[in-house]
Amino acid sequence: MMDLVIRNGLSDKTGTPIEVGITDGIIVAVEPSGIPAGDKEIDAGGGLISPAFIESHFHLENAYLWDGMINQSGTLQEAIEIYAKIKHDLTVEDMVERAGQVIRTAVSHGTLWLRSHVDIDHIAKLSILEGVAAAREAYKDLIDIQLVAFPQLGLAQNPEAVDMMWQAMENGCDLVGGMPHGEQNMDNAAKQIEIAFEIAQKYNADVDMHIDETDNPYWHSLELLADKTIETGWQGRVTAGHCCAMSAWDDKMAARIIEKVRQANIHVITNAPINLMLEGRGHNHPKPRGIARVKELLEAGVNVSCGQDDVQNMFYPYGKMDPLEVALITAHAAHLGGPEEIQAAFDMGRYNAAKLWKLDNYGVHVGAPANLIVLDAKSPVEALRRQPDRRYVIRQGKVLVETKTAVTWHT
Ligand SMILES: [Zn+2]
Repeated sequence: MMDLVIRNGLSDKTGTPIEVGITDGIIVAVEPSGIPAGDKEIDAGGGLISPAFIESHFHLENAYLWDGMINQSGTLQEAIEIYAKIKHDLTVEDMVERAGQVIRTAVSHGTLWLRSHVDIDHIAKLSILEGVAAAREAYKDLIDIQLVAFPQLGLAQNPEAVDMMWQAMENGCDLVGGMPHGEQNMDNAAKQIEIAFEIAQKYNADVDMHIDETDNPYWHSLELLADKTIETGWQGRVTAGHCCAMSAWDDKMAARIIEKVRQANIHVITNAPINLMLEGRGHNHPKPRGIARVKELLEAGVNVSCGQDDVQNMFYPYGKMDPLEVALITAHAAHLGGPEEIQAAFDMGRYNAAKLWKLDNYGVHVGAPANLIVLDAKSPVEALRRQPDRRYVIRQGKVLVETKTAVTWHT
């Protein structure tokens, strides 16, 4: 007898009726109907059965740091300054507690993988890594977490941080991060990328950088990243988050660099919610849009994902760790409104993110690990429009969360 059978669902690929049978945490049957009785049975209520969501760009350690830390200018620069003043005071206990709130909320919305960038610099040293690594351990039965060593205050201009980055890779970080546009100029941005790839090659690690998170068209470190990726043979192993400056480049330059990104097989993550909030602040109208050129990237065949980045803190005052909300905001920001475009937005936190995570066996098919959600929606269009309940969140074949919102009319 199968451990768990989900009945009365719809395929997330074809929209046709399916049942799913699970044994030992693995999907062992996907049929239109007729799967034998399971030990436990759940009713999808005619909703989509989808692989769970992936949050591909987040910062666990500073989630919910908003009270008393209001970013008056609304700029990335002020957020970094506010955060720098308090980052060495964050305790492991506090980070585990806030990360726990984030993780529980994310899981309740169907997120079972989360990639978090961890500040590594001369102020934080490895203290933040200690907190976030403890949170990863504490919640390992709920979610898979990857940690990216993130030198937010620069490497070329902050040599002390270079040593910290090597130590971070020895002490639990999985990927090498960066923020080249945080250096003084493009020459130093190139130096930072050079250092990051040296570390990545030594540890055989993937790279995931904050790239050109600015509305200033001077910055084009995405091009350097693409060149370096090809030079080192790291194609498919590099992710570029944000990529805002491309909204301020002219079309010719954008087309040239997007083509390099495609050749380098770089995954792009747009962080549309926070980018819309932080970018364009210093401009009179017309303002640069401040987000990656999602449509052009998709049209060029680049793998595009989207991420929450921050939640209710000095960087971003909103957010509720719901991938459907992030997809909806991304759809607005990137003008994704047709059925196929909505499908693309829906896939960004699922199949597209699975590519950058290298989850080869991701999906609702026989042999895949049973990491699934049951959505109270009959199609991707409905999922984005109504932001419906995740009726069930299932990890490794086990039901972790069940949600049913009840509305009672008194008329
Ligand atoms: Zn970020």
